[in-house]
Amino acid sequence: MRDLATLPKAHLHLHFTGSMRLETLRELAEGYGVRLPHALLDGDPLRLPATERGWFRFQRLYDAARACVRSEADMRRIVLEAAQDDDAEGSGRLEIQVDPTSYAPFVGGITPAVEIVLDAARSASAATGTEVAVVVAASRMRHALDARTLARLAAQYAGEGPGEVVGFGLSNDERRGDTAEFARAFAIARRAGLASVPHGGELLGPAHVHEVVEALVPDRLGHGVRSAEDRRVLDDLVDRGIALEVCPASNVSLGVYDDAAQVPLGTLVDAGARVALGADDPLLFGSRLVAQYEIARHEHGFSDDDLADLARSSIRASQASHATRARLLAGVDDWLAAA
Ligand SMILES: [Zn+2]
Repeated sequence: MRDLATLPKAHLHLHFTGSMRLETLRELAEGYGVRLPHALLDGDPLRLPATERGWFRFQRLYDAARACVRSEADMRRIVLEAAQDDDAEGSGRLEIQVDPTSYAPFVGGITPAVEIVLDAARSASAATGTEVAVVVAASRMRHALDARTLARLAAQYAGEGPGEVVGFGLSNDERRGDTAEFARAFAIARRAGLASVPHGGELLGPAHVHEVVEALVPDRLGHGVRSAEDRRVLDDLVDRGIALEVCPASNVSLGVYDDAAQVPLGTLVDAGARVALGADDPLLFGSRLVAQYEIARHEHGFSDDDLADLARSSIRASQASHATRARLLAGVDDWLAAA
């Protein structure tokens, strides 16, 4: 069995705060004199029911972690460490997702907040073997007008390379907000050449996947796993070439499936879906990128050939330049060849 940490791959679903190392969170909290909930520090992955209350607990813990990020230095540290950790796991391309709104008050507004993340992404790309680009994400919990403001801001930094904005996302509780109301924000982002990468098909089923597809015209779906419950919806995703950012450990932690074996990875891949495995929020789920490939290997019986295909699929679903993709794809061939 080949080492999955040396398999070149792209990481397309990782949230800024959720990427944090536990040790970093501890240090930040101590420095600011913040007392963190025990559940954040015990090193145990969360296990919450996929109910409103389960999500509410997840959100409270996430907010507690976010409240420890209060300066430009903290923000830069998070991006650099995310790149270092991804680099150690064979991720040659990271598209990290950030909603700058919460950090804006500490650094003078949402524009500086975005610029700090982009500059940190450029520096981290130079300092590690991982190219870091950024997805700016709006929140379902806020007004659709806020999402439009963020989309216009994101559009100013559109590009494909390190330290550029490559996509526009929509995160938070999928059951909240009216998806169609965010269509204008996504249209603004799309006109600027940004990929559309909203969450969908995690806490809600195939009907909402269909709604997201119609309203937000995604290039990739955050999760999208529950499309497996309706073959027509899944086939539609395949036909449209919409990639799925599948995060098995996250699904289990948030109670979407009872265990990793129940995540319908095989169903999605067999249907021809483009799948990119992601870690989502390693800080809360206690599981990073390679662990998701381990799940595919051990829980779903993926061979090294299948795992190489998953890695290729993640690279092709990224917004990286042709040159970067070609380099990473060649690395996948080398990984397979080196028996
Ligand atoms: Zn997510």
